[in-house]
Amino acid sequence: MALSREDGYRLIDCPDQELDSLLDTAGKLRDRFKGRIVTYSRKIFLPVTNLCRDRCSYCTFRKDPNEPGAWTMTPDDIADVLGRGSERGCKEALMCLGDKPELAFPQYRDTLSRFGHRTTAEYVHRACEMAIERGFLPHTNAGILTRDEMKLLKPVNASLGLMLENVSPRLSLKGMPHFSAPDKDPAVRLRMLREAGELGIAFTTGILIGIGETRQERVDSLIAIRELHETYGHIQEVIIQNFRAKPGTRMAGFAEPDSAEIARTVATARLLLGGTMNIQAPPNLNPHDHKLLLAAGINDWGGISPVTQDYVNPEAAWPHIDALATTCREAGFSLSERLAIYEDYIDRPDFLPAGLQPVASKLRADILEGVL
Ligand code: SF4
Repeated sequence: MALSREDGYRLIDCPDQELDSLLDTAGKLRDRFKGRIVTYSRKIFLPVTNLCRDRCSYCTFRKDPNEPGAWTMTPDDIADVLGRGSERGCKEALMCLGDKPELAFPQYRDTLSRFGHRTTAEYVHRACEMAIERGFLPHTNAGILTRDEMKLLKPVNASLGLMLENVSPRLSLKGMPHFSAPDKDPAVRLRMLREAGELGIAFTTGILIGIGETRQERVDSLIAIRELHETYGHIQEVIIQNFRAKPGTRMAGFAEPDSAEIARTVATARLLLGGTMNIQAPPNLNPHDHKLLLAAGINDWGGISPVTQDYVNPEAAWPHIDALATTCREAGFSLSERLAIYEDYIDRPDFLPAGLQPVASKLRADILEGVL
């Protein structure tokens, strides 16, 4: 039987001397359902645009159009990254971009129109088609999408993503990190997660920890994700992402969550979400804690690129895949490549669009044969 919300509150708040036991229980649950295999997706990161109408207090990715470092990738830029990724055996094309720039910036609307598109979703659709033509499976994280935009993008995406971050409306109050970020309204994010379920889209979401939320609010957020998954069965992966304080942001001076705090949250997530859920923690944001995160119950490291940087966290290099494999082996795990859509969903035509099935089958065969 699933643990209750109150169980979750109790677990995440367990005394420090019970932390080892919490991790042990979570690790054993992961072992029972997932074995000692931890996965990653070999990807390229395509930051289609870093223009964003929101202003989250911790973000260094977003820019205004005239700021130094603002960009929108041209179709040629996209083709170039696809070409380099293809040569290095990457299989996932991650489209990651700011939220609704066309609503805020006329210059960006002009750029889109020069490329022959009216909306970002249309342009991303074209970028996904280009990726599929090069043999990639696209995964798009473009912030809040409407139901119609998700319908447009489903045929050209193996999966979509949106971090729930947290269900607490408190984080949008004055002085809190989402005050100037209308797209971080939890009701809006929950609406998109629900509609993705109704549309049969394999979906990656997660929580962001250390941005001013309480432990109980983390549990509330995990329960909200669990309830959506119980209804629609579409949540393929839950990311437990830790806040990193970055120079130049309004939260530069905030304390980052420490290793134990991250591990207790991962373990609580494993126990609340159950043994079958895929739980990820980003290895580049926790470079010294890979073994601790494995002990706490993760079974995935997310996307790792041998070609492109993590544009959202450019200061945090992805680990070399061979080095990560060695760490996993030392901890008693084997590192295994996966696709942008998890194995459970690949053979389900209600989730994986027909046009992507041949691509997924080929890439799955490449993984089995060890083709890079
Ligand atoms: S975190 Fe995302 S939504 Fe917030 S400002 Fe950065 S790019 Fe925009």
